[in-house]
Amino acid sequence: RMKDPLQPEFHQAVHEVVESLADFLLNNPRYLHAKILERMVEPERIIQFRVPWTDDRGNIHINRGYRIEMNSAIGPYKGGLRFHPTVNQGILKFLAFEQVLKNSLTSLPMGGGKGGSDFDPKNKSDNEVMRFCQSFMTELSRHIGQYTDVPAGDIGVGGREIGFLFGQYKRIRNEFVGVLTGKGVEWGGSLIRPEATGYGTVYFAKEMMKTRGEKFKRKIVAISGSGNVAQYAAEKVIELGGKVVTLSDSSGSIYDPDGIDKEKLAYVMELKNVHRGRIREYADKYGAQYLDKQRPWSIKCDVALPCATENELNLDEAKMLTQNGCFVVAEGANMPSTEEAVHHFLTTKILYGPGKAANAGGVAVSGLEMTQNSMRLAWSREEVDTKLHSIMSNIHRMCIKYGEEDGFTNYVKGANIAGFVKVANSMLAQGLV
Ligand code: NDP
Repeated sequence: RMKDPLQPEFHQAVHEVVESLADFLLNNPRYLHAKILERMVEPERIIQFRVPWTDDRGNIHINRGYRIEMNSAIGPYKGGLRFHPTVNQGILKFLAFEQVLKNSLTSLPMGGGKGGSDFDPKNKSDNEVMRFCQSFMTELSRHIGQYTDVPAGDIGVGGREIGFLFGQYKRIRNEFVGVLTGKGVEWGGSLIRPEATGYGTVYFAKEMMKTRGEKFKRKIVAISGSGNVAQYAAEKVIELGGKVVTLSDSSGSIYDPDGIDKEKLAYVMELKNVHRGRIREYADKYGAQYLDKQRPWSIKCDVALPCATENELNLDEAKMLTQNGCFVVAEGANMPSTEEAVHHFLTTKILYGPGKAANAGGVAVSGLEMTQNSMRLAWSREEVDTKLHSIMSNIHRMCIKYGEEDGFTNYVKGANIAGFVKVANSMLAQGLV
């Protein structure tokens, strides 16, 4: 904390991991002697750069770009780019640190990284976003590569942005390679990548529910967010017979007690992905309730899937959820529950799946996209979905293996230890680097 006192999210992420690894490390002192954890919290490299661009009126803007190359012990750095005004070094370090353990859990050979900019894509024209992406990639292209560092999307970076970034990389380097994932299917992308994080979160929740003989069918599900992860989590829940009753964005939440069906979800996708509108418009169209400036956790549900952003579910909201009978929380977002909320879920012994396990499906399919790019072929939808399903089941099994505590599975501990072991062993084998 002395080194970087102004990075609370990074400290929060590290604290959670250290707490759940403590006993394991004491029982395995070789990791302590080699200072593996101390090395893991120090990024291998941080790149920070200026991103100048002009808006449609010719005004000049300067943003800050970053890439945190956190750990390459088990593969090239891999992790998304986030474009959001709140982006700073501490947020990206927390995301990169989580990413290292998450990528390890997928069982694919990927190290961890994260990057982005404090650029706000909201209310920008396509041309403005393109000019920004081109300027951003002009500098980033010196630092990444298919064997070195392979970024993807995250908040504010979807198919449109990945397209502009890829186009600029190809133009500068004069090579068509899988340097980014989340590409369009016509130009090297993988089927199921857009769906992967949301679907994977629901597959993980399904596995957790199975341990208590439960299913999604007829369950009431509260989802936060209405972006990539939330949309496809909702799609899969609906397919499995659950009833999705909430969605949200940074302005507020909608509550639709009749359930968001396929048709209403298609409207949300069009609203968010094409028109870049606000979720409030759903309430106007379907007569649903709009909870202005509120998160959806006061709504009674069986399953909660936080899919928006970090620290979007605090202790009071966690208590509200469990008091209302919620018994499953699976995190589509990264670190959406505060530390106090996590403790509450663990002490009340509900099924709580932390983001690094529950949302690993996105990066897993990114890993599969890299494989397909290297082999220069494309797998079918069914093939990728089957692999995603089996990766999520495997992560669930590993969480049980390492997280079992007298008949209760502590998925936080399970995910942290399982993710740590592979990276730590690789670091030991590769010497003091
Ligand atoms: P999107 O940009 O597609 O959607 C983000 C959603 O969250 C929007 O509804 C947005 O609302 C809302 N949101 C963003 N910031 C805030 C905030 N500060 N307060 C309240 N609401 C907010 O991003 P994704 O769906 O891709 O990402 C969502 C989460 O999932 C993030 O935590 C991300 O790190 C995580 N994740 C994403 C993966 C992926 O493959 N995309 C993989 C693994 C994790 P608004 O439109 O108003 O900003």
